[in-house]
Amino acid sequence: MNREYRRELDVARNAVRLAARLCQNVQSAISTESLSKKDNSPVTVADFGSQALICRDLREQFPGDPVIGEEGAAELRAATGAEFLDQVVREVVRVGVPGAADEVCDWIDHGGAQNYSERFWTLDPIDGTKGFLRKEQYAISLALIINGQIELGVLGCPNMPYPGSGEPGVLAWAVRGYGAWQQPLWESSATAIPVRVSGTSEVSELLFCESVESGHSSHDWSGLIASDLRIHREPVRMDSQCKYLAVARGDADLYLRLPTRKGYAEKIWDHAGGVILVEEAGGQVTDINGRVSNFRLGSTLSSNEGMAVTNGRVHPFVIQAIQKHRPR
Ligand code: AMP
Ligand code: MG
Repeated sequence: MNREYRRELDVARNAVRLAARLCQNVQSAISTESLSKKDNSPVTVADFGSQALICRDLREQFPGDPVIGEEGAAELRAATGAEFLDQVVREVVRVGVPGAADEVCDWIDHGGAQNYSERFWTLDPIDGTKGFLRKEQYAISLALIINGQIELGVLGCPNMPYPGSGEPGVLAWAVRGYGAWQQPLWESSATAIPVRVSGTSEVSELLFCESVESGHSSHDWSGLIASDLRIHREPVRMDSQCKYLAVARGDADLYLRLPTRKGYAEKIWDHAGGVILVEEAGGQVTDINGRVSNFRLGSTLSSNEGMAVTNGRVHPFVIQAIQKHRPR
């Protein structure tokens, strides 16, 4: 029996929007100088700030729900983290949330669950940190998992263009059984529009997307697949779960995540929000062996391998091609 999860959705959408505001504030201050120095501090500040804001709301509204988040506050609580903590608190206050240093740490640590439970949230406060630093694509991803099934997902994509206006900023969400939707990220009262996958069924016409980082998904393997399927369009390389949004709304037809090494287990927060979005938009998501992902194993998808995300129509052909070119 489906539930609408109205309150969960409201809380999740507002929290992601506020976290996105914090991230954008931090991102806009990144300079070419900090990039050339490979200064990762903006990511750190925004990562912790985003997790603090979202976990604060979840803890207040759903105190019994564990949150499996990417970050923990141990680093900030240490003496060496004092300066970072100051910056995180400053950014949290800047978006209108009063919080003292130890409160902020407590909010962050609320996202420190690791084990599976019947009902829990999973959070990536900034997915695609490389994209964040380059001022390109990144996402804030939040999902609610109940009895091993993703029931709700929200993606904040501050730099994705909104259809029609082209203005940057998309908030996308899905509730199991209730479709997938998008709205301008900064206009919470704007009418939401449905998100639907493409209707492409001609394999050679597929537009596929993959990680920018060849360390996160094998570009060699995807190249072999593309030539086998006679795909003639160049892949779109993009950071973060914005790739899930791209497939969900038909900007692309296919997103492949092909393991670069044996034994890497995908993190649940890198996928949960995106998976339900694509499924509710009419697409199909499995691992590269055609198996459904198992979200009952704690923080990783340790019984699965990689990810294959399609508009549904082409899924079997894609899985076949992935297997045919599996590196030995
Ligand atoms: P993307 O932006 O698609 O390249 O994915 C970013 C995510 O890749 C990060 O959040 C990491 O959790 C994840 N990641 C890190 N190392 C690997 C790896 N070896 N294989 C796959 N994903 C990875
Ligand atoms: Mg991530």
